[in-house]
Amino acid sequence: MSRSALATIHLGALRHNLARIRVLAPRSRVMAVVKADGYGHGLERVARALSGADAYGVAAIADGQRLRAAGIAHRIVVLSGIDEAGDLLEVRRLELDIVVHHAHQLDLIAADRDARPLRVWLKLDTGMHRLGFDPAHTDALLARLRSQPNVHADIVLMSHFARSDEPAMPATREQLARFASATSAPLAHSIANSAAIVHCPDARQDWVRAGGALYGLSVERNRCGADDGFRPAMSLSSKLIAINRVGRGERVGYGGLYECPEDMDIGVVAIGYGDGYPRSAASGTPVLLNGRVAPIVGRVSMDLMMIDLRAHPEARVNDRVLLWGPDLPVERIAAAAGTISYELTCGITRRVLFLEDED
Ligand SMILES: *Cc1c(COP(=O)(O)O)cnc(C)c1O
Repeated sequence: MSRSALATIHLGALRHNLARIRVLAPRSRVMAVVKADGYGHGLERVARALSGADAYGVAAIADGQRLRAAGIAHRIVVLSGIDEAGDLLEVRRLELDIVVHHAHQLDLIAADRDARPLRVWLKLDTGMHRLGFDPAHTDALLARLRSQPNVHADIVLMSHFARSDEPAMPATREQLARFASATSAPLAHSIANSAAIVHCPDARQDWVRAGGALYGLSVERNRCGADDGFRPAMSLSSKLIAINRVGRGERVGYGGLYECPEDMDIGVVAIGYGDGYPRSAASGTPVLLNGRVAPIVGRVSMDLMMIDLRAHPEARVNDRVLLWGPDLPVERIAAAAGTISYELTCGITRRVLFLEDED
């Protein structure tokens, strides 16, 4: 059997989502965040489709290498910055922007004898307590950076929200206030990620940094990207490889988790956690067969899952089965699996065949 699991990436949806962000944040430049292989959609593919972005955001220098090798000439911002002196050579060679979030990185820049100016995004910790400097030190940090000939004068000040996907919580407003009062220096500011672009007009500053929304994804409870005008950029599908009659009272799959309430047809779909479909998705999680819902029964296994075909008398071997996509939001599957949509799209494994379309 050839592998049947397909991830189809909808390039038109990626472009639509970037246009939607431009509508929401018309005065902002847009950094398209393409870390984690473009949230699992494929780094180079996503970057090409989003060539209308003003910059790309990546987690690590290696992603910058891949983008430059693919001929991408845009600004590329390494969101974790540099770790060691050798990184500066690579950052210069590839002309990458770096986020500076830690004193260790300032020391590396100070020790650097190359005069070519580095483009720096200075990161403040306004309440997330992950990466960034104390905002109280902003002016001193800026003075230090500006005293160095190897730092470009055009520094961007940035910070990151911890709870922008919970618009009712005060945390985001508090972070915004701390960010606003960090310095009166006239610098470009950047704080909004996807959820803040959607919910928080004050956060749409000089640069917005969109990740999930570009892929049509939401991380908000009980919402999906489509609720905010975005289109899902990935469809995950496979096919039905067997239909078996199973008797009443028989149990299906590992652990016998599902008991057939009557004699019924069980469909076997060629996809499992070895492809990135979550094992934690319980019986009842929907798939789409010929456009209609069929529930998963029993435990998702490595290569296969079983579905209840009682409502699908027309089902035939080789029918395509949609696991998520525009007609079945990945957010719904993520909720059933106790996680967020990002983890599912990032988790598609290498054996899945990737295709693209212009939808
Ligand atoms: C991942 C990331 C983003 C994008 O976040 P989304 O919620 O996916 O839009 C923005 N900024 C930084 C620093 C990030 O690490």
